[in-house]
Amino acid sequence: MLKASRVPMPTRSAEERIRCFDEVALGYTPQLALEEASRCLGCKNAPCMSGCPVGVRIPDFIAKLKQGDADGAAAVIKGDNNLPAICGRVCPQENQCEKLCVRREKLGGSVAIGNLERFAADNATATSCARPEPCGLKVAIVGSGPASLSCAADLAKCGVEATIFEALHKAGGVLVYGIPEFRLPKALVQKEIDQIAALGVKIVKNVVIGKTLFIDELLEQYDAVFIGSGAGLPSFLGIEGENLNGVYSANEYLTRVNLMQAFKEDAVTPILLGKSVAVVGAGNVAMDSARTARRLGADVKLVYRRSRAEMPARAEEIEHAEEEGVEFVLLTNPVKILGEEGKVTGMRCVQMRLGEPDQSGRRRPVEVEGSEHDIACDEVIVALGTTPNPIIKQSMPSLETTKKGTIVADEWGRTSVKRVYAGGDAITGAATVILAMGAGKRAARAIIDDLCGKKD
Ligand code: SF4
Repeated sequence: MLKASRVPMPTRSAEERIRCFDEVALGYTPQLALEEASRCLGCKNAPCMSGCPVGVRIPDFIAKLKQGDADGAAAVIKGDNNLPAICGRVCPQENQCEKLCVRREKLGGSVAIGNLERFAADNATATSCARPEPCGLKVAIVGSGPASLSCAADLAKCGVEATIFEALHKAGGVLVYGIPEFRLPKALVQKEIDQIAALGVKIVKNVVIGKTLFIDELLEQYDAVFIGSGAGLPSFLGIEGENLNGVYSANEYLTRVNLMQAFKEDAVTPILLGKSVAVVGAGNVAMDSARTARRLGADVKLVYRRSRAEMPARAEEIEHAEEEGVEFVLLTNPVKILGEEGKVTGMRCVQMRLGEPDQSGRRRPVEVEGSEHDIACDEVIVALGTTPNPIIKQSMPSLETTKKGTIVADEWGRTSVKRVYAGGDAITGAATVILAMGAGKRAARAIIDDLCGKKD
C-alpha cells in the first residue's frame, strides 16, 4: 500500500460536459473510497491537520472510511466543518491539508483528503441534529455565505439563537450566485443549509442590511451582530468601452446564470448569449465564467497579462477549462473595448513580457512597445476580483474599514464597534470558502466568550 498511487476522481468527458451544467467530478464509488482511504497512514502527528483552516480531524474521519463507516466519518468531519459536501468540492486542498500530507513527495502523491471528505458527506445517511437547550443569547448574522453559515451553526450548537439576514431570495451567498452548478450542485448547497437550519438557525431572506434594516437597529434587538456579507463589488479594467452592451462583470454574468438561471428559455432574467466571448483574468472566477460561456455555446478566449505559471486558479480548474476548449491568450492585456452601435465588437490588446518580480515575488508584466493588436469578440466578461459591498460601511460610519473597503477586525473577528464582529471576504477581500468558514468559527467562539465574560 505504501507504493499505491492516489486514486483519481472519475469525471464526465469534456465532450459531454460542455453540453450541460451537470457536475464534472462524479465522486468516488465505495470501492474507490476504500482504496484511497487505505492509503492514509494514520500519522500520529497528522501534519495534514495543520493545513486545515477549520481543524478537521483528518486521520480520524479517514479511519472511519477504512471501516466502511460513512456516517461515522461524516460525524467526525461535522464536529469541525459544518459544510463538508461543499468543502470536499471547492476547497483548494492541494494548497492546504494535502500539501502537508506525508505521502505527497515520494509515496504516490498526497491522500485525496478532499475527495474522501466529499464521499463521506455525500454517502452519510444519518441526518439527526441535536438541538441544544437555548442559552438565552441572540445573535444577528448579516449575509448567508460560508462565513455566516459557519458562524451561525457554531453559535446554534452552543444554544445561541442565531438569525441570518440575506439580501437575496436564496441563502448561500457566493455558493449559490458565484460557483457554477457544474462545480457545486445547488441541491447539495441547500441540503447543507437545511442541516444548519435544523440546528435552530433562522434564515430571513430579502432583507438588505444597511438599507431595509440597520446594524444599529439589530444591536437593539440582538446581543451581537456578525457581518459575513462577503465581497460582492466587482472590479473593472477602467478602460474605454467598458460601458458597451455586452460587457459583464464575472459577478453579474455568473449571478444571472447560477442564481437566476438566465440560460433557460423561460427565465425572467435575460443574458446575452455571445458567440465569441473574451474573459479577462485567470483566477477561479475567470475559469468559472469561461467554462459557463462554453456551455452556453460560445467560443471562448481567456485573456491574461501574465504567463500560465502565474495563473491564480486551481490547477484542476485550469485543466478542465482547457479540456473544454477554452483558449488561453497569455501575456496579453486589454487597453480598449471596441464597439459599433453600442455593442461590443472586439478588444484592443497589447503584448506583455514578464519583468522583475514585484513585492509579492510574482514577475511584473511589462508592455511590449508597438504590440497593439485586436481580438474579435461580441462579449467581454471581466473577472478581476471583487471587494466588499460599501452599503454596510455607508450605513455605519463608526465601523472602521481599510482603503480597499474591507472591515478592520482582529483575528477573532472583533471590529471597531462593540458587539459587532465580522469575518470572511468582508474582512479579507475575495478569498476561499474554507478560510471564510474558519473566520466564521473563530468569531462564533469570540462572541460566546465575550458575551459570557470569558475572554481569552
Ligand atoms: S498526513 Fe496524509 S497519510 Fe498522514 S494522516 Fe494525514 S492524510 Fe493520512
